[in-house]
Amino acid sequence: MQDEVLILGGGVAGCAASIALARKGRSVTLIEREPTPRHKVCGEFLSGEALEDLHALGINVASLGAVPIDYVRLAAAGRAVEAPLPFPAASLTRKALDTALIAAAIAAGVRVKRGRGVQSLNRKTTNLWQATLDDGTSYEAPTAFLATGKHDLRGHGRPKDPHQWVAFKTYYRLSAVQTADLADASELTLYSGGYGGIQRVEDGVTNFCCVVQRRYFARSGLRWEGLLAKMQQDCPHLAMRLDGAEPLLDKPIAITHIPYGYIRRTTEDGLYCIGDQAAVIPSFTGDGISVALHTARRAATAYLAGEPAPVLQTRLRSAMLPQMRLAEIAAGGLNNALARAVLPFCLSVWPGAMRVTARLTRVTQPAAVAPQVFAN
Ligand SMILES: Cc1cc2nc3c(=O)[nH]c(=O)nc-3n(C[C@H](O)[C@H](O)[C@H](O)COP(=O)(O)OP(=O)(O)OC[C@H]3O[C@@H](n4cnc5c(N)ncnc54)[C@H](O)[C@@H]3O)c2cc1C
Repeated sequence: MQDEVLILGGGVAGCAASIALARKGRSVTLIEREPTPRHKVCGEFLSGEALEDLHALGINVASLGAVPIDYVRLAAAGRAVEAPLPFPAASLTRKALDTALIAAAIAAGVRVKRGRGVQSLNRKTTNLWQATLDDGTSYEAPTAFLATGKHDLRGHGRPKDPHQWVAFKTYYRLSAVQTADLADASELTLYSGGYGGIQRVEDGVTNFCCVVQRRYFARSGLRWEGLLAKMQQDCPHLAMRLDGAEPLLDKPIAITHIPYGYIRRTTEDGLYCIGDQAAVIPSFTGDGISVALHTARRAATAYLAGEPAPVLQTRLRSAMLPQMRLAEIAAGGLNNALARAVLPFCLSVWPGAMRVTARLTRVTQPAAVAPQVFAN
């Protein structure tokens, strides 16, 4: 079976690129290994840029129940400070978002193959990619978009994560008092080897997502219950927030080895790498979805304009490098011992600093490639 474009992975980046290309009349097949969208490890914060791109794709997050987020609150040891976000933001479960994106891709005319994973992607001839699926079938196209998120395809992998990050996500129904107190804030709770984010999503549910270095997880006995207890001990604000909360999942979902700071250096002709396969920004910025949408849009624009994939990849890298390094420095600062020693100072400057960080860690784009390629 041959199409003009083959998209591997039907998460944020894969769906966004497929919709943009199908709307411009290209024949696109998208292969997603999950039969239906399911929970993903994610803080589920949607930044202003993500909201803009989703709107251009025709995704109305408010109608899906997204909760507006107006404040960011930073909590460490026994203190918390907050600042208004300098951009509109919202939160929505990935299950709801991914469901809406896949539906939009199908409506745009993308051939979506679900429940089958890509095992390998190879060149069949100089101008033809061949993806072989786990059921033995294969799909071919002159151009492929690699959008498998955190999962690497053999032969197209990314470097290993030296810090051995471990991330968890779960949902709670907070007590009425804590729900009112959390209100429309995205809260960042800090520990000596990681951080967590807590914010409301749709249907009266609250997301708690955390990322810790393996050594911190090891100190808590390599078990979720121990980790949760340690995080609450290190950050009493979290203990207060979860007081009387009802856990909604039997156990949290988890992922390991997240290559934060990665930006792909190059790629092969005819292979556009997007989303987490292009760059992995530290989670505390809440910018991964925005990066996924941005790289999808840039790649779709490049493909339509005949810009070769290696040229685009180099451009993306130099555009994203400063923001990525800044986000890494900020993430390191949140976790290192020196920063903890001057925590009262960090807390006192955080509201101002966050405004700068929020702007600088965001991947901006020139007006020429603004969201029109996503529009109908
Ligand atoms: C702990 C944590 C918290 C985060 N919090 C936030 C946040 O609050 N806000 C934010 O904006 N970003 C956040 N991010 C980042 C964000 O989740 C990702 O950057 C974003 O999902 C990347 O989109 P993607 O399309 O590249 O990958 P995904 O959305 O993960 O999609 C990849 C898809 O490919 C499919 N797939 C994988 N392998 C195969 C295969 N072999 N064959 C076929 N299909 C395959 C998967 O099933 C999946 O659906 C967070 C990340 C982490 C780790």
